[in-house]
Amino acid sequence: MLNLVIFGAPGSGKGTQSEKLIEKYNLAHISTGDVLREEIKKGSDLGKLAKQYIDKGQLVPDEVIIGMLADVLESKKDKAGVIFDGFPRTLAQGAALDKMLKEKKQEVSVVVCLDVDDEELVKRLLQRGRTDDNLETIKSRLEVYKNQTSPLMDYYEKAGKIAHIKGVGSVDEIFAKISEAVDKVQ
Ligand code: AMP
Repeated sequence: MLNLVIFGAPGSGKGTQSEKLIEKYNLAHISTGDVLREEIKKGSDLGKLAKQYIDKGQLVPDEVIIGMLADVLESKKDKAGVIFDGFPRTLAQGAALDKMLKEKKQEVSVVVCLDVDDEELVKRLLQRGRTDDNLETIKSRLEVYKNQTSPLMDYYEKAGKIAHIKGVGSVDEIFAKISEAVDKVQ
């Protein structure tokens, strides 16, 4: 069972590369951002709560995300593995993921970290045009990434699980490098 975490700042290409990985390796895609946007569309209580944070470029509280992830993970059992996209985003979420996988006698297989500099990230996000892709929110999301999410890089580095991939170039070039890293742990 492959448990792949795709990691990187907002705009680093996690979603794009996830789509390709899902197809090549027959993986279930778990994007916490997509799940939250679905909940917002449905107008659920979770969606209403999440919207308040998403609009400000802040993280939805850990306990909300961790509970939601456990439910989603349960519903994806029929694939060769899972790709976690946009999760974990804090050390607490990373520890919760390890615990959830351990209960199933599994672990994180590899963390693919897409490295892209800030200037390029801002440029890409402004082009994307999602409702949370305005300059003010983007700045806040990049700050949040630096302060709350990037400490996970050390965590996975220490565990010997991280593969740094330069996230600039063509989508296919980047994908080829990611595939190489994934094939090493297969
Ligand atoms: P994304 O689509 O991954 O860029 O996520 C969009 C927004 O959803 C983020 O800016 C957060 O507000 C929220 N979000 C998504 N995933 C998480 C997570 N793992 N922890 C906390 N907030 C999240």
